[in-house]
Order: sequence, then C-alpha cells, then structure tokens
Amino acid sequence: MIEEKGILFVLSGPSGVGKGTVRKALFEKDTDLKYSISMTTRPMREGEEEGIDYFYRTRSEFEDMINNNKLLEYAEYVGNYYGTPRDYVEETLQSGKDVFLEIEVQGALQVKENFPEGVFIFLFPPSLEELKNRIINRGTETEELVRNRLLAAKEEIEMMDAYDYVVVNDRIDSAVHKVQSIVRSEHCKRERV
Ligand code: 5GP
Repeated sequence: MIEEKGILFVLSGPSGVGKGTVRKALFEKDTDLKYSISMTTRPMREGEEEGIDYFYRTRSEFEDMINNNKLLEYAEYVGNYYGTPRDYVEETLQSGKDVFLEIEVQGALQVKENFPEGVFIFLFPPSLEELKNRIINRGTETEELVRNRLLAAKEEIEMMDAYDYVVVNDRIDSAVHKVQSIVRSEHCKRERV
C-alpha cells in the first residue's frame, strides 16, 4: 500500500459552533492525526495554556511572522490575529502524517488556495438561535463581542459551498463520528497498491 504524503484536514465553521469541542473529542479517539497549534494575539482565557491551546504572541511578533512568510494562512477575527505556522504543517505532511487544522472560514479559504488537495469540513450549527445560545453560554465574551461573533457567523455560513463536507453539530459524539468517517474514507480514496 503506498500513501506518501499525509492528508491535510481542515475543520472550519462559525465561532461557537463547537469546533474546539469536536476537535478535542476527536483527538481523544484518533491519535494518528497531528493537530496544528495556532498562533494568536488574543489574550489567554482562563484554563488555557501556552503551546497547548495556542501560541500567544504580541501583534508585532505576529506581524513579523506574516512578513517573514511563516504563516500558511492568517486572519484577523473580531479584533485579533489568528494564524497557522507554515513549517509545522509542511514538515508533518511531508513525513507522511495527517495534519488537522481547526480554523475560521477566511483562513480555511486561504488554505484551500495553497492546498486544493486538502479536505475541507464545515461544521454547521443546528440553528442560528442555538449558535447564539452557545456563544452566550460560554460566558467568556462581552455583549458586543457576542454580537460581532454572530455577525461573523452569518457571513461565514454563506461560504459553506466551498467545502467538501458539511457536518451538522447537533450532538458531539455523532459529529465526531462523522469526522472520523471522513478521515477514513479520504484514506481509502488515496490508497494505491
Ligand atoms: P477563539 O478565540 O474562540 O479561540 O477562536 C476564534 C476563532 O478563530 C475560532 O473560529 C477558531 O477556530 C479560529 N482560529 C483558531 N486558530 C486559527 C488559525 O490559526 N487561523 C484562523 N484563520 N482561525 C483560527
């Protein structure tokens, strides 16, 4: 069986849809995927850790990375930068391992330009009302941030057609199961003897 390079999987969708929860549950089951930890300029939330949740950087450090072409993609989202370190992704794929990104929609579309062979999965909320409740219940955002995140979500949902798969996140376990099935089926698609 010959499978040379790893496969790049991109999980995206609006903030509050549960990308982080689905990704964490997936990684508890699937240790073969390599998660790419993002850079961000947003402040660390309670319970988060440097190098586990994100690499936290100042705006000027982040802008240096942009200028030195160190990011595979980046986006400014609700006032902060978020980006994917290029070297980690390219080296890991080259070594034959799959890489998994969990990023917002503008960034996912940039990745698609550079890696059209990647697999793009859109996580969809059961409804906008449910999405709003999830953002509010997270309790980490001010009222203005909640409003901005919802506005961003509506624009993001319009980009859904650019994706290979849509997974509705009504229940975490069933969403994780669907993502796992996508990972397996993409491997079968590429297997050659
Ligand atoms: P949060 O502040 O809630 O951790 O993340 C806000 C949004 O940024 C989420 O939609 C998350 O998926 C996205 N995000 C996290 N890392 C990256 C990244 O490296 N690039 C992009 N474009 N978005 C990211």
